[in-house]
Amino acid sequence: MGVISFSEANCKNCYACVRACPVQSIKIKNEQAIIMEERCIACGLCLKACPKNVKKIETELEKVKQFIKSGQSVVVSLAPTAFGVFKNQGHKLVAALKKLGVSHVEETVVGAEVVTQVYETYQHFHLDKCYITSCCASVNLLIEKHYPKVIPHLIPVITPLMAHARMLKLKYGQDVKVVFVGPCLAKKIEGEEEESISAVLTIQELKQWFNEAGIKLNELEEVPLDDGLVSQRTYPMVGGMSKCFNEKDKKIEIVSVDGIRDCIEVIEGIERGEFKNIFFEMSACHHSCLGGPAIGEECENIFNRKMRIKDYARQTQPLHEMSEGGRLPLINLNRVFKNQYSPIIQPSEKEIELILNNIGKYSAMDELNCGSCGYPTCRQKAIAVYNHMAEPTMCLPYMKHKAETYSHVIFDVTPSIILVVDKSLTIIDFNPAAERFFEVKKDQAIDLPVSIFLDEAPFSSVIESKSDLLGHRLSLNENKTIVIQSIIWIEQQEVMLCILHDMTSEMAHELKMQHLKINAIDMAQQVINKQMIVAQEIASLLGETTAETKVTLTRLKRLIQEDEGGLL
Ligand code: SF4
Ligand code: SF4
Ligand code: SF4
Repeated sequence: MGVISFSEANCKNCYACVRACPVQSIKIKNEQAIIMEERCIACGLCLKACPKNVKKIETELEKVKQFIKSGQSVVVSLAPTAFGVFKNQGHKLVAALKKLGVSHVEETVVGAEVVTQVYETYQHFHLDKCYITSCCASVNLLIEKHYPKVIPHLIPVITPLMAHARMLKLKYGQDVKVVFVGPCLAKKIEGEEEESISAVLTIQELKQWFNEAGIKLNELEEVPLDDGLVSQRTYPMVGGMSKCFNEKDKKIEIVSVDGIRDCIEVIEGIERGEFKNIFFEMSACHHSCLGGPAIGEECENIFNRKMRIKDYARQTQPLHEMSEGGRLPLINLNRVFKNQYSPIIQPSEKEIELILNNIGKYSAMDELNCGSCGYPTCRQKAIAVYNHMAEPTMCLPYMKHKAETYSHVIFDVTPSIILVVDKSLTIIDFNPAAERFFEVKKDQAIDLPVSIFLDEAPFSSVIESKSDLLGHRLSLNENKTIVIQSIIWIEQQEVMLCILHDMTSEMAHELKMQHLKINAIDMAQQVINKQMIVAQEIASLLGETTAETKVTLTRLKRLIQEDEGGLL
């Protein structure tokens, strides 16, 4: 399973996550959204979009607690974003982490410095090429999984976190457990790839850890970082990385791009060869890492976070003094990006047409492109159906039309009389059976009070009780017609559906059967009477047996009567 998933939810008619996902990485199967790990870039947009909040993020918090419990040395690489998130208490984070048992805390920007030094060299080239920074884990995944042709434009350098983790291992020993804490979900995937990273926690998980341990930042004394870099603290802001450049001899244009949709636009432009001699500083998140997806829902607005980071970048303390030459990059900074392309298969025009036909779309006019299925166009939805990522029934207009068609057929052809009556006891619909029975056309019946045709009392009682009245027998048409009346309250529309089932012929048949049975019993009575006369005549000859014959015949009569039940 990937780092992000959805727990079970009824996704029917929602598809907000499908709509939010910029790279079509969510499929719907049996009305349940499923994240396709092979396509997901861990941008977190779907999690923010889900109205049911059924996100599941793989957490390594217990693993980190276990490291500490088992006496292993845990070193935290703390993303600078954290200092912008905790209201006026960011400077207490080191104290809190140490209280939890962490042995050292350094800012991730220590690793950023060595990466920036490599990036800086690219601004001196004047080539017919453009470059993309490789410090955003989500952008790297975007290019590897969706735009592999652009891999040669990614600067082949590890991310600041990877660099820092390798540096921490060199500094504190290969046995230490390096744990990153930051705002990013994609870093969890990066953590799985980079062996010097033992675990990745989000800022949200850090808050949870503080809560569980009863840590209150305002009750702690400030403790200095074990290492940090004031000059690189704007790194999580848009353009923050290039601000750290020494722009002397710059031969290339530096452009900052934030937000996944803008990143995609630029990457597609690069693929088409539209840009030259530009250095793109790219962050998948809008507002860069400061707008990261895992900082906690209750977090206040982005501009406060920005102000805090700016303030923080102006502070030179609290930091331990750095030893001379302490940050020489003795680590390998090279990175080879992998082609992880997992394409969506393009069906033929004929195949698309067939899928569209299946959902009642036979011409361009039928393609509403309304987006309620989560796809911007009907054709894109058809392609998703072809790739088993979407279900035909996700098309709301089609399902509505289908339901309406079925209900109209029933409404029109049923022999039952149907009236729809609103709360003011006015008729708002009248079916053909009602037209025939009441001998009034639908357009004349509509807007008439129901009392013209039926007793309004049961309707009033249904409105009052908001509960159905079922199986009520009544006579209409000067007692010539017997109907069973049901009045159903439809809460959503606040109307009543009145169904009258004509029972006249059934009742007549029942009556006829009753008469037949009564006649049969009369005949039996006559036979018994005749038998009795004969029996009495024989009685004188046979004596006592006469009484037994009478008893037997009387029993026979009773049995016949009982067999006819309540009819007699
Ligand atoms: S995390 Fe991003 S890429 Fe992954 S499924 Fe969600 S929206 Fe799509
Ligand atoms: S911008 Fe930062 S937080 Fe957002 S995906 Fe990239 S690295 Fe992660
Ligand atoms: S009409 Fe098209 S865009 Fe709208 S829900 Fe149906 S398939 Fe999707």
